[in-house]
Amino acid sequence: MTTFPAATILGYPRIGRNRELKKALEAHWAGRTSAEELLKAEAELRQANLARLVELGLRAQDASLPENSSLYDQVLDVTSLLGAVPARFEGRRGLELHFALARGDQGSAPEEMTKWFDTNYHYLVPEIGPNTPISYADDRYVERFLEAKNWGYLTRPVIVGPITYLALAKEDEQAPEGYDPLERLPEVQAVYATLLSRLEEAGATWVQFDEPALVSDNLSHTRLELAELAKSAYTELAGTSNRPRILVTTPYGNGLSALPALASCGVEAIHLDLGRGALPEPGTLDLGGVDLVVGAIDARSIWRADLAQTAALLEKAKLLGARSLCVATTNSLQHVPHDTALETWDDPELDANLHAWLAFADQKVGEVVTLAKGINEGFDAIAPQIEESTRILRERATAPGVVRPEIRERVGALGESERARAPYGERAAAQDARLALPALPTTTIGSFPQTTDIRKARAAHAKGILSDADYRARIEREIAEVVALQEKLGLDVLVHGEAERNDMVQYFAELLDGFAATRNGWVQSYGSRCPRPSILWGDVARPKAMTVDWAAFAQSLTDKPVKGMLTGPVTIIAWSFPRNDLGLAEVADQIGLALRDEVEDLEAAGIAIIQVDEPALRELLPLDAEDHADYLRWSVDSFRVATAGVRPDTQIHTHLCYSEFGQIIDAIAALDADVTSIEAARSRMEVLPELAEAGFDHGIGPGVWDIHSPRIPSVEEIRSLIDAALAAIPAKRLWINPDCGLKTRGYEETLASLSHLVEATKEAREAL
Ligand code: GLN
Ligand code: ZN
Repeated sequence: MTTFPAATILGYPRIGRNRELKKALEAHWAGRTSAEELLKAEAELRQANLARLVELGLRAQDASLPENSSLYDQVLDVTSLLGAVPARFEGRRGLELHFALARGDQGSAPEEMTKWFDTNYHYLVPEIGPNTPISYADDRYVERFLEAKNWGYLTRPVIVGPITYLALAKEDEQAPEGYDPLERLPEVQAVYATLLSRLEEAGATWVQFDEPALVSDNLSHTRLELAELAKSAYTELAGTSNRPRILVTTPYGNGLSALPALASCGVEAIHLDLGRGALPEPGTLDLGGVDLVVGAIDARSIWRADLAQTAALLEKAKLLGARSLCVATTNSLQHVPHDTALETWDDPELDANLHAWLAFADQKVGEVVTLAKGINEGFDAIAPQIEESTRILRERATAPGVVRPEIRERVGALGESERARAPYGERAAAQDARLALPALPTTTIGSFPQTTDIRKARAAHAKGILSDADYRARIEREIAEVVALQEKLGLDVLVHGEAERNDMVQYFAELLDGFAATRNGWVQSYGSRCPRPSILWGDVARPKAMTVDWAAFAQSLTDKPVKGMLTGPVTIIAWSFPRNDLGLAEVADQIGLALRDEVEDLEAAGIAIIQVDEPALRELLPLDAEDHADYLRWSVDSFRVATAGVRPDTQIHTHLCYSEFGQIIDAIAALDADVTSIEAARSRMEVLPELAEAGFDHGIGPGVWDIHSPRIPSVEEIRSLIDAALAAIPAKRLWINPDCGLKTRGYEETLASLSHLVEATKEAREAL
């Protein structure tokens, strides 16, 4: 029997070297191109990607090439395959339906979007109930396979597996309380069986089913329950009479717990992510019947691999007695940019260093191909490449800026006293006396609408077209307008509006030592949206104050308190490409110390309230429950390093972008922020009783305006949310604010909504 190809990747970036997919999608959505033109552009991109992969050393004819393209999202593609369309989309079909599910349309809200495991990618959450239609409804996987075949490539279709698809689904509107979408597994499985037969008929030799749900402890089923379900589902699928061979992957985590189930269900190949997981001990498991696909090249990071270490790992994997041993990436390369060759850095030394140290998708394909050669011909055959990798890693370790002893010492000297503030009661009294705020103080989360004019000014400044002085004047004018507006609205605690920030992480990355921005390092966040995360390559330091001028200017315009506004260490790490040569706990403390200096400078400049946003705290929670405690410890510690240097009468706020606290509720309390604002409008304050139960007793600002939609909430609606909050939280601790920042909203909605928010708060105060 043919074994799995020796070298592969689990998936390639889909957006295109020059963001071709983004451009094609947006042109189509704007009505500038037809459906045919969009599909043609998408097919051209697919063809170019396949050609590129072959150029990089993957083989065109043995299913080495993954076919993981997607117009919008890989989970949505399975929803289409199954025809599992919520009732509200009835009457739409084809691309219109596809994009309505993804983006909503006149009549219907889109499917919800949420983070894909612990990555920055968002998928569309399937809505499954007892009556959701499920049948073989879309032949796209087969069509793409045939199209590639036509171009001369034998691809390996990549599909989110049935267990992961259903484990990520939520119950639909009609489902009874507590309904479990996995109840529909038999029907879903039947569709996958049909798909297998259709692919076999089309000539496919291998398919790849991605099952990351099997490595997560953060879903509503335990990983062992899911492994049991996987065992029965794949045993059935393996029994399909005419089918391609099956690879099941377990990316993003440790697949060991699922391995016994997968090794005995009749699939031909199993993948393990060795970036996050480990190999089984030799002799513990019979792998003689399967090909072991070792995820040896880390597709989460952007760093060049340590080939010596990886080769040693592969030597160990040889001892496991699998039918064959294959090299792959840890997961799809969709989370890294295309090619380091597209980058240049202005500083020649940094440019040379980063080009040596980094490996984006194309470079990682090369590494996989090299290692496969090592397996086939013996690692001596790749000795020059191994030596080069060792040399570069050694040079990286000692390059200027990578290790700065003064920073390491400062982190090493951190102790409990740097992380502890005075008791909350004492602080609250001092802050009440200093701030003299009314009951139910009103505020916003930080950003005000980002107008095209402001974006243009920032871009012109970055290009050097707008002088520093003119830029400063432009931003100050914007700040003055935003402050005046908030005074007119009657808000109690003001913000400067964040007009100077392109992005809440990139802004700080550009001002801190140790980070490098990219020009083309786009990665897909969802659909056509692609941020460009910064590269955190060295020890982090703050050469000078980053926000103090703007905050102090805003404060000089008003007698009301203006909040200083910073992004916390975890969020800076989560939305950058972090280094892999230092533990994240230490990286977080380095950022925490840089922020601590900023916080102290803000305090010295007379800023009485400082907000440190940590919207990514939940997102970075490790998939493996064993790692939770450690993560929560260091993430909380770094926040406290950043914030605990202030006087008792300086008020620390934090903001989190979600309302499901579950596993992190104790950590949120442990942040010890004086005030925490959270998302709560859509769930109608559901989280408050949960918070009260967990003993959370500091200030809290549950959002009363869902800023994710352009809808303007009425005074009554906001009032009813305030009343619901007052039922769970003593008035003394309650703040009134929107769910999140306003940068994506327009001014008209913002003004109307905020004036309703102030009005509703006045009413609620009178009723107290
Ligand atoms: N202060 C930020 C803003 O208002 C917070 C954004 C966020 O939580 N994602 O834009
Ligand atoms: Zn938010």
